[in-house]
Amino acid sequence: MSLDTVPKEARHLRACKLCSLVKTHDQFLAAGCDNCERWLELKGNREAISECTSHNFDGLISLMSPVDSWVARWQRIERCVQGCYAVSVSGDLPYEITEMLKERGVAYRSRDRRIQH
Ligand SMILES: [Zn+2]
Repeated sequence: MSLDTVPKEARHLRACKLCSLVKTHDQFLAAGCDNCERWLELKGNREAISECTSHNFDGLISLMSPVDSWVARWQRIERCVQGCYAVSVSGDLPYEITEMLKERGVAYRSRDRRIQH
């Protein structure tokens, strides 16, 4: 099991707006998002990281055994890599990205649970 997906420090943490994976900015820069890289292409792209991840998130869930975790099902992350996930991520993906995801048949719902409307 690889622990590269677990945040290496508590500062500069960001959460992916698509899957809610939490890592440091440097980890996103070095490896992109472990779940969404094929769509978001965050690796080495500071602009994409600032648009598609957010430093403003609430709650942290450690996901070690995604398949049998009810928390994972509830968070819709049961198919994701092991790691830390945010409960709520503030902000939405940019319009072009959500359109591209729609075209490719990827379900995207905002992870911002603080706005209920
Ligand atoms: Zn992601």
